[in-house]
Amino acid sequence: MVNLDFSFFVFASISAGVMLMIGLWLYYDRCDQRIYETERSQALFHCLKCGRTYSAPRSNQATSCPSCGFENSKLKF
Ligand SMILES: [Zn+2]
Repeated sequence: MVNLDFSFFVFASISAGVMLMIGLWLYYDRCDQRIYETERSQALFHCLKCGRTYSAPRSNQATSCPSCGFENSKLKF
């Protein structure tokens, strides 16, 4: 019969808990990244002519308003 003491079971259960938490953290981090990546890469624009607020890819410094076509620069906070 294998002789195992109580400290081994404590160590094993804590290790399993830590491994489970790291696994869940990586899983939900990847899910979050997949879902919200397109929203995070958007920038806000406010049309000076018609007052509409719209979004476009962050790489654009200026885009045309989808309503009136006026060229607007990116909002900076
Ligand atoms: Zn406009």
